[in-house]
Amino acid sequence: MIISKQKGLKEILGFLKGAKKIFLVGCAQCATVCKTGGEDEVNQMEKALKKEGKVITGKAILDPPCHTVKAKQFYQKNKDALSESDGILAMVCGDGAQSIMEGTRGKKVYPALDALFLGMVQRGGHFIQKCVLCGECVIDATAGICPLTVCSKGLLNGPCGGSKNEKCEVDRERDCGWIMIYKRLKELGELDKMKIIRGAKDNSKALHPQKIEG
Ligand code: SF4
Ligand code: SF4
Repeated sequence: MIISKQKGLKEILGFLKGAKKIFLVGCAQCATVCKTGGEDEVNQMEKALKKEGKVITGKAILDPPCHTVKAKQFYQKNKDALSESDGILAMVCGDGAQSIMEGTRGKKVYPALDALFLGMVQRGGHFIQKCVLCGECVIDATAGICPLTVCSKGLLNGPCGGSKNEKCEVDRERDCGWIMIYKRLKELGELDKMKIIRGAKDNSKALHPQKIEG
């Protein structure tokens, strides 16, 4: 899931300065779970913008916005309201915002959210980053725990040696990721995997933009 936070109203009003008529778009998936761009947040944004003198030309929650077919359908359904709008306030991640821009044939899109990371939902309002999309997953050798996120230095070949009382030397509040990996490998009877030596990470696997063409 893409974890996001809402931008402050001051920043949003700053880039909406020249735009009076605004169409609001939210996301039925990630931004709804993050409570940054679901139905409630879109309604709250409508109230806040109206107070500032903006005219809301329409509202829609796309499911999901990051799908250009859905964005095109949204455009077809709301053509008239969109044509009289100065822009769309996208309460969705940056991926969704660009999909909306493409689906609405280049309509001006303003981002209301900052997309932060790919994260796991622990419980309501608590999210944690477990994967940085490195493009070359190694967790088969690390007991299902990602060393790139759980170790502060993203080390691939075992601990740095700086941990104290099983805490990380970079952040003493955090458990050392490599001790976690060691313990889990031990439980699994796979401690021999600690001896695997990996070469330098192939960062070309994570070059941008990534693309898959089926
Ligand atoms: S190694 Fe870590 S960052 Fe890379 S794909 Fe696997 S979980 Fe994601
Ligand atoms: S103490 Fe552990 S988690 Fe921290 S940087 Fe070193 S190996 Fe990584």
